[in-house]
Amino acid sequence: MSVHKFTDNQIPIDKDNLAIILNEDLCISTAERYEYQEVKKAILDPDKIVIFSTSPLIKAGLGEVFGFTPGSFVEGKMVAALRTLGADYVLDTNFAADLTIMEEASELLDRIMNKTKSMPQFTNCCPAWVKFVETFYPNILPHISSSKSPIGMQGPTIKTYFAKQRGINPEQIVNVALTPCTAKKFEIPGEEMNASSKELDIPDMRDMDYVITTRELAKWLKEEGLNFHELKDSDYDPLMGAASGAGLIFGNTGGIMEAAARTAYYIATGKNPEDDFLNLLPVRGKDGIRSAKINIAGTPIRLALVHGIDNVMHIVDEVVAGKCNYDFIEVMACQGGCIGGGGEPNTEIPMSDDIRKSHIDALYKKDNGMPLCFPHENPDIKGVYKEHYEKPLSPLAKRLLHTSFQDRNNDLGLKQIV
Ligand code: SF4
Repeated sequence: MSVHKFTDNQIPIDKDNLAIILNEDLCISTAERYEYQEVKKAILDPDKIVIFSTSPLIKAGLGEVFGFTPGSFVEGKMVAALRTLGADYVLDTNFAADLTIMEEASELLDRIMNKTKSMPQFTNCCPAWVKFVETFYPNILPHISSSKSPIGMQGPTIKTYFAKQRGINPEQIVNVALTPCTAKKFEIPGEEMNASSKELDIPDMRDMDYVITTRELAKWLKEEGLNFHELKDSDYDPLMGAASGAGLIFGNTGGIMEAAARTAYYIATGKNPEDDFLNLLPVRGKDGIRSAKINIAGTPIRLALVHGIDNVMHIVDEVVAGKCNYDFIEVMACQGGCIGGGGEPNTEIPMSDDIRKSHIDALYKKDNGMPLCFPHENPDIKGVYKEHYEKPLSPLAKRLLHTSFQDRNNDLGLKQIV
């Protein structure tokens, strides 16, 4: 760790930290590490093909920076803005959220029905949560789903499947993920996030190349002097642009669990669940720990979601003590989930409950109006399994869409906790 001017009230921040930097002059301020200048250079390079993939909360959060009512859903203008910046393709990370649900739900059923791995299964979509376990509780790593996060799946799928279908040399692709999450800047350079490089035998290629937060994108757009209001709505590019409502509600706490439950039901029974199964009201809301019980093909499955690290500790202690009664637990390190992500626009500091609620409402309102409710009905998801992955948990899916974890307990030096 580097030494800082002010050490009495700070956690040291390494100068090489991939996600945040310390502003020494402002004493206690940290800021996310910006990468958009690198993306601008890639856009100007005629040999590069720049592909943006956007997370759901960007669409619900970007508008207010430009004076729209908080929670305005500005998907069309956001896509148009990225094309104006010079994107070659704009894809929806919700497509990969659907892919994550397919893999994660299949993994859950495999654990329950075939008793293949430790129970309960924790989600793996939040890099801050995964690093917390790797550092402080490596003994429970087998409980974390091997299914990568949506951004983790989007990268290798673009560089293998999308590149092949579009006739693009994958080495030319510069993958840029847009997200409200600063911790994703730490996730994507991870050692194991080069599955496409191994698959295609292209040394040094990364699955995802850059992460830009909502706040960073807003700064870039303002610097370019874009008139966001006057932009004409644009659609995502096809092939990896369609997404179900299930992928959309990923952005809220409980969204992953709800979406995975819908798809697990279909995989196990061959039928879609009844309408009231979809509105898992007990898992919506604001409480730090929420739970619900569902029944799939005669098997009761106990679901829980937890957000905010203090609440997470409670569940982790239960798992360590062997007293946890849940089967599937969604974990989000930020209070309120990604809605409270470090890269959300700071039109209000701290973000008020009203703004948070407007973002959540925007996602669920859009989900309710979407013709596609289920990832397994998404034509782009059917296409990627037919043409590329064959089926969830296939050998290729395991190579590109699943990951492993590191024991980082030694990072604590003498203060090790196991
Ligand atoms: Fe990132 Fe926070 Fe969402 Fe975790 S909960 S993925 S740290 S924004």
